[in-house]
Amino acid sequence: MSDSFDVIVIGAGPGGYVCAIRAAQLGMKVACVEKRATLGGTCLNVGCIPSKALLQSSEHFEEAKHKLADHGVQVGSVGLDLARMQARKGEVVSSNVKGIEFLFRKHKVTWLKGEGRITAPGKVAVNGEEYAAKHIVIATGSESIPLPGVEVDEKRVVTSTGGLELEEVPGHLVVIGGGYIGLELGSVWRRLGAEVTVVEFLDRLVPGMDGEVGKAFERILGKQGMKFRLKTKVTGAAVGDSGVDLTLEPAAGGEAETLRCDVVLLAIGRRPYVESLGLKEAGVELDERGRVKTDGHFATNVPGIWAIGDVIVGPMLAHKAEEEGVALAEQLAGQQPHVNYGAIPGVVYTWPEVASVGETEEQLKARGQGYRAGKFPFTANGRARAMGDTDGFVKLLADDKTDRLLGAHIIGPDAGTLIAELALAIEFGASAEDVARTSHAHPSLSEAVKEAALAVDGRPLHI
Ligand SMILES: Cc1cc2nc3c(=O)[nH]c(=O)nc-3n(C[C@H](O)[C@H](O)[C@H](O)COP(=O)(O)OP(=O)(O)OC[C@H]3O[C@@H](n4cnc5c(N)ncnc54)[C@H](O)[C@@H]3O)c2cc1C
Repeated sequence: MSDSFDVIVIGAGPGGYVCAIRAAQLGMKVACVEKRATLGGTCLNVGCIPSKALLQSSEHFEEAKHKLADHGVQVGSVGLDLARMQARKGEVVSSNVKGIEFLFRKHKVTWLKGEGRITAPGKVAVNGEEYAAKHIVIATGSESIPLPGVEVDEKRVVTSTGGLELEEVPGHLVVIGGGYIGLELGSVWRRLGAEVTVVEFLDRLVPGMDGEVGKAFERILGKQGMKFRLKTKVTGAAVGDSGVDLTLEPAAGGEAETLRCDVVLLAIGRRPYVESLGLKEAGVELDERGRVKTDGHFATNVPGIWAIGDVIVGPMLAHKAEEEGVALAEQLAGQQPHVNYGAIPGVVYTWPEVASVGETEEQLKARGQGYRAGKFPFTANGRARAMGDTDGFVKLLADDKTDRLLGAHIIGPDAGTLIAELALAIEFGASAEDVARTSHAHPSLSEAVKEAALAVDGRPLHI
């Protein structure tokens, strides 16, 4: 036996590395196993961070090309240096992953480099060495879901990982799947000059998003030039020298057609990743969707083995994984933490951004909850007008009897930042009136949030 720890975390994504740091802060001896060459997991290496770097760069490109002239800023002809854009993205990723290495050193978390396998409760093997732990935390994350008939080569048929690495702007990019990852990456390549078609099986984008916001989102992205083939399924992809022929069929069945493109981005969702972990041998149960089965306290059915993040039930989001990592570490230290799953925001980082927290109108209707809705458009917000970004609105949903805030949905400029106030409001059990009576700086986008809260009571001031 090489060494023994209080906690061994397997996987150094936002769930795992945060859990390791918090456990170390609480005085435990901690190791974190990571097989990737760098720390940070999907999020820092091939997910949140590189996608946001490209979204930011492509947004600047689009602004320079199409928006700055309206502000009276003349930039002459605007060119694209995609190699530099990709290199910058690499630098952003690199500084972030190195930051986690620094944090591990600071908190004395041991990085065990290699693939971790649970050999028995309390034992983890890495590179032929066996380590002992009082607690093992599975934080192995997720991978993209494959689609039968569509073989990924990460060149012409790519997952999000290859979609972040393209060396040329495709003439025509087809995105399979109208979820947030497909729409974000679709936006990147559309801004850089690609024709983008999104093929979605369902009759709407981003299932789970508030219906009214979803419709507005589709309309705004359509106005930007993105094309949508809803209620359509992809049944095959034939890769040739000059492109890819995709076979499409109506979702309900019917005549097949061919859609030609240069690159296909497969983004139909993600599934938990538990390969080579030895879960079967250790007797750890999975649920019907292949997720590690846990109780409300992250415990698997095997004492001393816990799981957090994308590999368990719940939204596959980095900040959800982080909250779970912190809560589990505190629980192992004897504290009584709690994750409020009703107050976890979700953001789509397109432009405009889409952000939500709490319940949608459809969810409230389905559970027979009475509510009042308040809406305020960015066209009536002075700051949005000054910015020249007036697409979208803020929509708040409050209990019709108590006025407690139940849901907040924003499509508009900086929605991902604006939603933080409403996540806090929901966390604190605030009413719409609490938000409405809070002073919001003028002129700011956040005044649209205040006005939507006033609108819940039928008394917005600026519309
Ligand atoms: C393109 C893209 C964009 C995204 N954008 C966002 C966003 O904007 N906001 C957001 O909240 N979420 C976003 N996500 C989702 C986010 O990345 C995940 O929810 C998050 O990374 C989950 O964290 P995790 O710690 O559970 O797992 P991961 O980040 O997947 O980390 C798991 C780690 O475990 C390692 N591992 C697996 N098995 C073993 C083993 N046996 N031994 C050793 N190591 C192992 C893997 O190498 C990996 O590094 C995005 C995802 C993608 C793909």
